[in-house]
Amino acid sequence: MARLTLDHVTKIFDDNGSEIVAVDDVSVDIDDGEFLVLVGPSGCGKSTTLRMIAGLETVSRGEIRLDDEPIDGKQPKDRDIAMVFQSYALYPHMTVRGNMRFGLEESTDLPDGEIEEKVRATAEMLDIANLLDRKPAELSGGQRQRVALGRAIVRDPAAFLMDEPLSNLDAKLRSEMRTELQRLQEDLGVTTVYVTHDQTEAMTMGDRIAILNAGKLMQVATPLEAYHRPANRFVAGFIGDPSMNFFEMEVRGDRLVGSEFAYPISEEVRDAIGGAEAVSADEVNAETVTLGVRPEDVEIVAEATGPHDFETVVDVVEPKGSENNVYLSFSADGDSSFVATIGGMRTVEAGQPAIARIPEAAIHVFDGETGEALRNRSIDEQAETEPQL
Ligand code: ATP
Repeated sequence: MARLTLDHVTKIFDDNGSEIVAVDDVSVDIDDGEFLVLVGPSGCGKSTTLRMIAGLETVSRGEIRLDDEPIDGKQPKDRDIAMVFQSYALYPHMTVRGNMRFGLEESTDLPDGEIEEKVRATAEMLDIANLLDRKPAELSGGQRQRVALGRAIVRDPAAFLMDEPLSNLDAKLRSEMRTELQRLQEDLGVTTVYVTHDQTEAMTMGDRIAILNAGKLMQVATPLEAYHRPANRFVAGFIGDPSMNFFEMEVRGDRLVGSEFAYPISEEVRDAIGGAEAVSADEVNAETVTLGVRPEDVEIVAEATGPHDFETVVDVVEPKGSENNVYLSFSADGDSSFVATIGGMRTVEAGQPAIARIPEAAIHVFDGETGEALRNRSIDEQAETEPQL
């Protein structure tokens, strides 16, 4: 077990003379035993980061340390780190037993009996003891994934690196393996860095998640912090499904004014937005901001009773069983639609008018230029201080 530190890590690839900055000055401290999920869209630098930790890519600038000891100069096999790939990367000509023994035989000089005992215990833990004599071609995808995990676990490494290990499995198996992997990681207590582009995996599996965009680290936080207190618009839009609704607005006095609606704001929100000094309703050059609200915070109410209730038209209703995603527009020919998630038993029909309530407590405001969060939704203080179950 170990603490893993990425200290201003940068990776620059040379693409026929032009530079590609795949990972840009990323610093993160991963605690001993922590499960950190590295998440972001395709091409954001997740795999490159993992490959640098594993020693499969060199580091262009910065340093990677395992328990305060720099590992950049070490060969992958000397790093005491085990990697699990999306492709499983099992040796097809070897049995499950052979695949699991191989790493141990290479990296240790344990006696044969001890290796056999470790393989057997790990296979039992993963429920694959009955498959030890089979070859990979004789296994299902889920079983191959277990063998790949077993091969990593049996080495008893200081850290696990996992690169989209569940993405080749069907949805049901993936969700089962998600839970199992989490339990395993908790039991083993091994520091783990897990790469995925799937934000559900990020939200459900990680102690903390590190969100990358275009090689840059956007935020490192617990899943709930990233969800409720995103550092910027990118994180707000990336985490959550359906995505947060965004509206481009100008700050005009005590209102945010957009092309299709105006949103009155209290002094508290006004102060949080700061900078943009009270621009009166008819002055030009008002500060621009992005107003954000999560779909589950948009309510559909029977009648308009306050300043945050808006007349809309229902475009499309997407029933999901337990809930409905309702796509709304401010007018029948309006072009900015937004989504409200409401209970599955409620009936709302496309083409009908609806009153959408966007409560002020739930809004996020982002800087129009930098995307930085200026104000995040308020969270019930009581809920925050209540003991965790
Ligand atoms: P995905 O989810 O699609 O696997 P990723 O977030 O893992 O994406 P990386 O594979 O780390 O992204 O790639 C980051 C960037 O670096 C991309 O722009 C990619 O094209 C570039 N890149 C990766 N490897 C090389 C290489 N060997 N030479 C040049 N550019 C590379």
